[in-house]
Amino acid sequence: MAFLALKFSRRMAVILVLSLFSAILVGQGLRAAGQRVAQTALVGRVIVVDAGHGGVDPGTVGPGGILEKDIVLDIALRLQDLLEKAGAKVVMTRTTDTDVSGYEDPWHPNRYKKDIYRRAEIVEETSPDVLISIHANADRSPSSYGAQVFYRPDSLGQNKRLAETIQGELKALVDGARPNTSDDIRQFILEKSPVPAATVEVGFLSNSREARLLNTPDYRGRVAWAIFIGLARYFLESDRLAGIGAEAL
Ligand SMILES: [Zn+2]
Repeated sequence: MAFLALKFSRRMAVILVLSLFSAILVGQGLRAAGQRVAQTALVGRVIVVDAGHGGVDPGTVGPGGILEKDIVLDIALRLQDLLEKAGAKVVMTRTTDTDVSGYEDPWHPNRYKKDIYRRAEIVEETSPDVLISIHANADRSPSSYGAQVFYRPDSLGQNKRLAETIQGELKALVDGARPNTSDDIRQFILEKSPVPAATVEVGFLSNSREARLLNTPDYRGRVAWAIFIGLARYFLESDRLAGIGAEAL
């Protein structure tokens, strides 16, 4: 009982502190403290981080030749670093500028199909706690703007909760992030995922201002931090829903 009470109060402290850290733009010192606090929520969790595209597949191409594959890989690697420092086990679908089809010939006619199947397989083989896929958006209208999290509706509502938690942090930390998540997505890795999953579209490369921001390391770091804190919050809430610390209430 005492142990649970201690655990509960620690959880409440973590929620309080995470609120503080998501409400302000964090400096280096505070960021380090936030990292330590998030550790409570993330230690031992297994997370697949999927950087979209890669190799011969650039994804969306922004102004000045900014490539989606490069932007999303950089954010994915930053997220990996934050999560691992917090004690999570991270499995990356890719860590370099390559696709994941495994074909030596990058122009093999089945490359795309093999690539998306392999990503889904990695999730299945790993049995993670969650999957986060990272992409950048594009639209015919150059005014479309804002980071947004997408999910596939599931019977337990876990995908929605994961997406909304991360969206909340993006709204708090990333200028112009969209107000709401969306379930309007067809993406093989999300459809096949046996675990809670969401895709973060980090912004529109078809918007010149947002493309410029995404091309700066600071901004990509902020996006990665928002996803990181969103994941910490998601796991805290998962523990609460699972009844951890309930006796102390
Ligand atoms: Zn993409």
